[in-house]
Amino acid sequence: MRIAIMGGTFDPIHYGHLRSAEEVREGCGMDKVLFIPTALTPHKPDELTPAETRLEMVRLALAGNPGFEASDVEIKRGGRSFTIDTVKELTMPGVELSLIIGNDSFNSITTWCEYESLLELVNLIVVERPGYPAKKPGEALPVALARKFWYDAPAELYRNSWDRTLIYAATTVFDVSSTDIRRRAGAGESIRYLCPPAVVDYIREKGLYASPVK
Ligand code: ATP
Repeated sequence: MRIAIMGGTFDPIHYGHLRSAEEVREGCGMDKVLFIPTALTPHKPDELTPAETRLEMVRLALAGNPGFEASDVEIKRGGRSFTIDTVKELTMPGVELSLIIGNDSFNSITTWCEYESLLELVNLIVVERPGYPAKKPGEALPVALARKFWYDAPAELYRNSWDRTLIYAATTVFDVSSTDIRRRAGAGESIRYLCPPAVVDYIREKGLYASPVK
């Protein structure tokens, strides 16, 4: 069973998340992509939209795609959501775990809790995000750790000494962010075509991001 984790604040989920995950699911032969909203996000302020509301938007966005599933594992655990804890919780025999992250996240991976253990436990799939040129392992990681990676040219991916892979996936670039959607919603502007219609309707019905704009 090949499972990819797409973690995020998802405040709100948008087509940048969805399209890159769909292309990874198809292109990397994943059986499932798990979308896991954080409880509290380590690198972001705490005044986020409530976790249950963000999870509900994820559920609405994923409806109808049998390859996508929403998971409340981090919300149930509560507190700051560290990916390493989630990965340990989801590690089980017969499951090959991969982590999908945008290149903005990969570029700052050394700020993540226990990032070295993470590289031991999961495959990484780095997707493109405009404005953030992707760093290679030699640029993003400390020298001693980068030395544990080498490029497998025929397979077009990096391997590491824990038998995990690091793939730079050339997914369709969609220059949208949750911050921009919150700003537009707060300014009373249209957010159509930035996220799925059910999410747009939910944001309107609940009056999310109306003010103050974050
Ligand atoms: P915010 O604007 O609030 O910081 P965000 O749009 O960056 O939010 P997150 O929920 O923080 O969204 O992102 C979750 C994951 O999705 C991260 O790994 C991030 O790099 C990735 N991601 C976010 N937006 C895009 C996008 N447009 N294309 C590809 N990946 C994305």
